[in-house]
Amino acid sequence: MFGRGPRRSNETKYYDILGVSKDVSPEDLKKAYRKAAIKNHPDKGGDPEQFKEISQAYEVLSDPEKKEIYDQYGEEGLKEGMGGPSAGSPFDIFESLFSGGGGSRGGSRKRRGEDVVHTLKVSLEDLYNGTSKKLTLSRNILCPSCKGKGSKSGNSSKCTGCRGTGMKISVHQIGPGMIQQMQKVCNDCRGSGETINEKDKCPQCKGNKVVLQEKKLLEVFVEKGMSHNQKITFQGEADEAPDTITGDIIFVLQQKEHPKFKRKGDDLFLEHSLSLLDALCGFQFTITHLDGRQLLVKSRPGEIIKPGQFKAINDEGMPHHQRPFMKGTLYIHFSVDFPESGSLTPEQCKALEAVLPPRPSSQLTEMELDECEETTLHDVNLEEEMRKKQQQQQQEAYDEDDEPAGPRVQCAQQ
Ligand SMILES: [Zn+2]
Ligand SMILES: [Zn+2]
Repeated sequence: MFGRGPRRSNETKYYDILGVSKDVSPEDLKKAYRKAAIKNHPDKGGDPEQFKEISQAYEVLSDPEKKEIYDQYGEEGLKEGMGGPSAGSPFDIFESLFSGGGGSRGGSRKRRGEDVVHTLKVSLEDLYNGTSKKLTLSRNILCPSCKGKGSKSGNSSKCTGCRGTGMKISVHQIGPGMIQQMQKVCNDCRGSGETINEKDKCPQCKGNKVVLQEKKLLEVFVEKGMSHNQKITFQGEADEAPDTITGDIIFVLQQKEHPKFKRKGDDLFLEHSLSLLDALCGFQFTITHLDGRQLLVKSRPGEIIKPGQFKAINDEGMPHHQRPFMKGTLYIHFSVDFPESGSLTPEQCKALEAVLPPRPSSQLTEMELDECEETTLHDVNLEEEMRKKQQQQQQEAYDEDDEPAGPRVQCAQQ
C-alpha cells in the first residue's frame, strides 16, 4: 500500500497521550479525551502544545479509518497523505464535542434539543375514568427532501466566520493584564458552523435543513388515577434539528375544579347539607359519582347527624394510579340547615320537648328573675356591623392626625 510490506506498527504514542489501551471502546476513548483536554486546556493554564497533541491523538483514534492506518503504519503512515490529523484547530475538536450542553452526556456527539411543555386541562372525571385525548401540534422536522443536509448535493462548507464552531469568541481587555472572553452564536451561519452555496440550497427547505410539519397527531393517554401536575412524556417528539437529539413533548395535567368533589391524593371529599329534620330523623339521598353511577347514601335508623360531622364510604375515592382496582375513600362532610324562617307554636314546642333531651336543669326561680334586668335581642348582620365600626375607627384616627402632634409627643417623652 505504501510501498512497504504490511507490518504492524508498534507505535503507541497516541494511546499513551490519552492514557488508554489499544482496544479502548469509543465511549472510554471519549471520556479519556475529555478528561485530558479539560485538564490541559490553555484557557485553564494548560500547555497549548500538549493540548494540540491530545486533540490530534483523539482525532485519529476516534476515526476508525485513521485508527486503522495508525495501528498499522504509525504516525508516519498518516503523514503519507492517508488522512493525517486535519489542519483544524484543536479547539474545533474540543468545542464540537463539548459545546451546546451535549458534551457531558457521553456517547453521542449530538447536542440535545429542547423539550416542549404543554399543559393539558382534564376534568376530575377524566382522571377517575381514564381517557385519551387526540391533539394536533405542529413542529419542525428534518427536511425530507435533503435529509436535513440543507443542500441538493449534501455538501456544505465550513463557515469562515466561526471556523465551523458555530460560536464566535470576542476578547475584551477589562483591565491591565485582564482579558474577558465572550462567546456568542455566530451570526454568519446562525450557529450551525457551516454555510451552503446559494445554488446548491435544497429547494424544499431553502437551506434551513428543517421544515414545519403541520398537524402532527398525538394521542395522550390519561390513565386512571393520574394526578394534577403529573407529566406525560412523548420522547423525541419535539422539534427536530440537524445533529440534535430531539427533545421531548411533555404534557402537564391540570385538573379543572370540580363543582362537587374535591380530591386529596386518592381520597374524595364531598359537601352535603341536610335539613334539620333529615339530621334528626334520618335521611337518604343519591350521589352521582364521577363514572355516572348513582350511589345511595342513607343514615342508620335512629342516627342523628351533627353539623360539621364527617362520614366515610370506603373504596369510592379515586382509583390508585397504576393499581386502579384499589380506590381511596369518599368522605362526606355534613352541614345542617336550620329552618330559615317561621316559628313554632307552643304546642309544637311541647311536642319537641317530649322527644328531645330535657333542657339543662338550671331553671331560674321567681325570686332570681325579680333581680334581673330585662334585655331585648335584635337581629344583626355581624359582618356589616364590624365593617361599620372599623370605618368609624379609621375616621377617628384621621381626625386625630389633623390635630397638632405636640401634646402626644410630649406624653411619649415623659
Ligand atoms: Zn431540504
Ligand atoms: Zn459561523
